[in-house]
Amino acid sequence: MTTIVQHLINGKVEPGENDRLQDVFNPATGESSKQVALASKSTTEQAISAAQAAFPSWRNTTPSRRVQIMFKLKSLLEQHAETICTMITDEHGKVHNDARGELGRAIENVEFACGIRELLKGEHSKNVGTAIDSWSEFQPLGVTAGITPFNFPAMVPFWMWPLAVMAGNTFVLKPSERTPTASLFMAQLALEAGLPPGVLNVVNGDREAVDTLLHDPRVQAVSFVGSTAIAQYIYTTAATAGKRVQALGGAKNHAILMPDADIDNAVGSIMGAAYGSCGERCMALPIVVAVGDAVGDALVEKVKVALASMKIGPGHDNTNDMGPLVTRAHFEKVKEYVDVGVKEGATLVVDGRDTVVQGYENGFFLGGCLFDHVTPDMKIYKDEIFGPVLGIVRVNTQQEAMDLINAHEYGNGTCIFTRDGESARYFTDNIQVGMVGVNVPLPVPVAYHSFGGWKRSIFGDLAMYGPDGVRFWTRRKTITQRWPSASLRESAVFSFPSNA
Ligand code: NAD
Repeated sequence: MTTIVQHLINGKVEPGENDRLQDVFNPATGESSKQVALASKSTTEQAISAAQAAFPSWRNTTPSRRVQIMFKLKSLLEQHAETICTMITDEHGKVHNDARGELGRAIENVEFACGIRELLKGEHSKNVGTAIDSWSEFQPLGVTAGITPFNFPAMVPFWMWPLAVMAGNTFVLKPSERTPTASLFMAQLALEAGLPPGVLNVVNGDREAVDTLLHDPRVQAVSFVGSTAIAQYIYTTAATAGKRVQALGGAKNHAILMPDADIDNAVGSIMGAAYGSCGERCMALPIVVAVGDAVGDALVEKVKVALASMKIGPGHDNTNDMGPLVTRAHFEKVKEYVDVGVKEGATLVVDGRDTVVQGYENGFFLGGCLFDHVTPDMKIYKDEIFGPVLGIVRVNTQQEAMDLINAHEYGNGTCIFTRDGESARYFTDNIQVGMVGVNVPLPVPVAYHSFGGWKRSIFGDLAMYGPDGVRFWTRRKTITQRWPSASLRESAVFSFPSNA
């Protein structure tokens, strides 16, 4: 019998009402391993109702009590780490150790959320007027929602809900329908840790569930991570409906390789960042801009050699460096981009299109591809490919390289490889990108900073998690207070209050 991944509504796993079903694939075998229920409007509304009903009592639960649940959840996540990583590899395809890294980042967000008592401290001023005190406090919003992409089924939901819920909100999570199992399982662990029913609900689904969340007036805030076209749709729709919204989109991250860089270290970093997780990371490095032909030639030669020994195979084998792409449709799309690059005139130095993994002939495996002489007018330069395809662009100066990055529509992440402090400082100061590395290929901020790109990699004012996350999931209220007393009796005042 086919397993159906259902929903978690009001603390119970539920099949939903009039839901459609969709296959979930194991990308290594190419077979449909189970099905996921795609929540109808009425199923999604049930989850919103559960969150609405749970809010009054959760809002009044002390932060100390809430935090105890998070501590327990952290230990449950560690206890079930193997199971969670197996679920991720089964549906996403990434190598098990890579899933472990992702889970580590999810747990880091739980640890940050455990600091909510400190994070919710307000601001207080005594005697803002005679015998008048004023303070600001940060109150929860109510029912909130998160919509997440396929590529980090454990980490991205944990960028959102632990902080939202610790701040006193209730939550409806809509994970990716391509990788639904781990998000649902981890929410069940939160329940086991003591989270009351209805505080965290999970609805699996597609556009129908998302649109219900965007239009339902009970949902106060929406956090989204996914591709840019959908991020823009989410942002405009939710904002028009009067909700607070942050929507993180796609990326095309460039590294700059300076002539003075430690080339062997840089190549190691570039290999991991370009091909790790099959290039399916929003912080992946699909473009390297080489400054000068000498360093460009050396880079191409070294990546070519490194690609020859990169091990490709199913993600459950930790000796593999790279697993398959997520679905057949995505595999075909990435392969088509390689065809386009050839037609556009880029030099295809390494062609991974004919890669076959023995015993996994039906899996969605694409070998690492390397293009040299990529130019900014090419589609393979402009578009986010989201696959194991690295393009080398050649320029003559650091400024030319930076101008390219600054002109690109995306501004998620970037990195410079150099030994020169002056170059690095000029780069970090002037580059139009939100997350910047100096000899660090994947500068993903830790949980106590905030994550967010610039330009069309984000829609909204506040970045994800960390200090911005606390502000996103709370609403400031400023209270001004005076207690009447006989000595301070005032007659009617008709002018605007001032201390003058
Ligand atoms: P996606 O945009 O296809 O899907 C993301 C979410 O939106 C899913 O839950 C999906 O069900 C929903 N969705 C899809 N189409 C929709 C529609 N028409 N209407 C309403 N909802 C819809 O993204 P994906 O393919 O799952 O993930 C890959 C993308 O996510 C890449 O572009 C990647 O760069 C981006 N991403 C960005 C970040 C970041 O932090 N900026 C992090 C991870 C992934």
